[in-house]
Amino acid sequence: MRARNESAWLIPADQRRVNHALRESMRRYDETDEVDLVVVGCGAGGSTLMQRMARHGWKIVGFDAGPFWDPEQDWVSDEAGSHTLYWTEPRTIGGADPVPLGSNNSGRGVGGSMVHYAGYTPRLHPSDFATATNDGVGADWPLDYDDLDPYYRLIEQELPVAGQDWPWGRPHSYPQTAHPVGGNGEIFQRGAAALGIETRVGPVAISNGRFGHRPHCIYRGFCLQGCKVNA
Ligand SMILES: Cc1cc2nc3c(=O)[nH]c(=O)nc-3n(C[C@H](O)[C@H](O)[C@H](O)COP(=O)(O)OP(=O)(O)OC[C@H]3O[C@@H](n4cnc5c(N)ncnc54)[C@H](O)[C@@H]3O)c2cc1C
Ligand code: SF4
Repeated sequence: MRARNESAWLIPADQRRVNHALRESMRRYDETDEVDLVVVGCGAGGSTLMQRMARHGWKIVGFDAGPFWDPEQDWVSDEAGSHTLYWTEPRTIGGADPVPLGSNNSGRGVGGSMVHYAGYTPRLHPSDFATATNDGVGADWPLDYDDLDPYYRLIEQELPVAGQDWPWGRPHSYPQTAHPVGGNGEIFQRGAAALGIETRVGPVAISNGRFGHRPHCIYRGFCLQGCKVNA
């Protein structure tokens, strides 16, 4: 478990802070040095790719348009004070029917959008892989649930994911038990039960209990504005 989750131990054991020593010891290259890979954008995709390739000995340089955040210093319990997290430059998706992106639907800085995502980590339903065949809409995936199943398990261990046992589609459980439900959720659960509708507490990539040196969630409720405590 620890070998796959080394990042959970990177926070100094005695403090809830970013390990600044890691930044100082991060490998750096001169402009004339030859490297194996340059990644532009250190979000969920770019950062993960860099980490995995670096573990295999690749020399990699990562660029990001935003800062290297320090949750303790940079993030505040205030929506207006969190606007610097968002990538709000005008962006329009290409294609025949271009869509302008909204104001805070991406992140900027190391960590990208994941520094202020909701943490919700549901698996696809097995039927989602074949919506063209099943429902006549969209396109079928070139792979199915069984192909992804081992990777769901690995990433749920690594994040780690907390959630209630899931009875629908392909029933499965999560490495950590579900977080307690807040006031809104309780009202939703009561209403659904009154209508005879089954509910479950959904999976989130938020540690339920201390994980390595990573502190547990304190239910501060600012996940979308950056988790200051690093849960
Ligand atoms: C508010 C919010 C809530 C979300 N909630 C959920 C959720 O609950 N569950 C879920 O699964 N997903 C959620 N998402 C989506 C998820 O966070 C993203 O899909 C995912 O993080 C995208 O990863 P990425 O690596 O593709 O891109 P990003 O994480 O967006 O990374 C892109 C990076 O590239 C950098 N960059 C851009 N242009 C340049 C440039 N020219 N030069 C250098 N760097 C550049 C940016 O600064 C950024 O760091 C949410 C997203 C947001 C914004
Ligand atoms: S501590 Fe707060 S911001 Fe962090 S995960 Fe928990 S509720 Fe979200």
